[in-house]
Amino acid sequence: MLRDPVGRRVDYLRLSITDRCNLRCVYCMPPEGIPLKPFGEILDYGELLRCVHVAVSLGVRKVRVTGGEPLIRRGVVEFVRRLSAIPGIRDLCMTTNGIGLAEVAVPLRRAGLGRVNISLDTISRDRYAEIARRDRLSDVLSGIDAAVSAGLHPVKINVVLLHGLLPGEVDDFIGMAREKPIEVRFIERMPVGCIPSEGYVSSDRIRDRILSLPGVRVAVDGMPSAAVTYGIPGFAGTLGIISPISRKFCSDCNRLRISADGLLRNCLFAKETVDLRAALREGKNDREVAALFMRAVATKPEGHDLCGGSYADEPMSRIGG
Ligand code: SAM
Ligand code: SF4
Repeated sequence: MLRDPVGRRVDYLRLSITDRCNLRCVYCMPPEGIPLKPFGEILDYGELLRCVHVAVSLGVRKVRVTGGEPLIRRGVVEFVRRLSAIPGIRDLCMTTNGIGLAEVAVPLRRAGLGRVNISLDTISRDRYAEIARRDRLSDVLSGIDAAVSAGLHPVKINVVLLHGLLPGEVDDFIGMAREKPIEVRFIERMPVGCIPSEGYVSSDRIRDRILSLPGVRVAVDGMPSAAVTYGIPGFAGTLGIISPISRKFCSDCNRLRISADGLLRNCLFAKETVDLRAALREGKNDREVAALFMRAVATKPEGHDLCGGSYADEPMSRIGG
């Protein structure tokens, strides 16, 4: 079992399988995109599976496939099938922007994906096109419905809080959780990828709005989560808030991250990384690769210092969010 020096059990691995993306969300990428790694520097599926095998042998139980946009990597359904065959993974999930999900939700479910988080920051078509810099809202909405129908349960919607939230938009999302069996989570934007913190919007106003709903209560489902989740009588779904800045949850952090190019990070904001790709390609055996995981856990920082002005200088799309 992996335990860090302050006693946190580390059992959650976020795996970025590509640095490519079909959107250009304003808080994640510049309009022209980021400099991409050559394909030869991206871990192939065999290398990714080997990393997961080693991590699971050390006690990792939750694996999230992310990116970039994971659905645009060719062969992703087959990769999920091979991942799901690894004994010991109890929670296999994916974070996606939802484009193309309508076509692959059922194959992904059949391949063993348990559940999915879909990013959606607005349900206004014009504003979506401004934020994602692509006019693809309808694809995302059909992806959400397809995920629900395919049984990728629970479907969670990630809403990054941005300046310029339209009047009524929060209520539109609340309406979505009322109608559909999904969890809508409002997330504070983080200063990642050299983006200064001026884009930060505190979740306090949203929390006040949620707490004003009749009969609202904090929901506990037993699954460790960065979100505070609220149940509301008469709602098919739930609402949640993730406040990495205003109420930081580092003390409960159980995560490791592997970027598409094989760098292991013990924190989203880590400057130091462990080069798993080099280790794999130098022919290190599983015990030696395991030692690298243990080194990352042994140096896991106790918490981030975002309010003190530090930020991650690697693009979020490469780290995987
Ligand atoms: N492309 C997929 C997607 O958008 O869901 C997966 C990768 S994306 C980097 C993972 C998550 O990070 C998304 O939910 C996205 O909204 C979130 N994200 C990206 N940049 C962020 C930032 N600066 N602050 C907070 N969340 C961010
Ligand atoms: Fe792409 Fe996801 Fe970043 Fe948006 S948040 S640009 S969908 S990687």
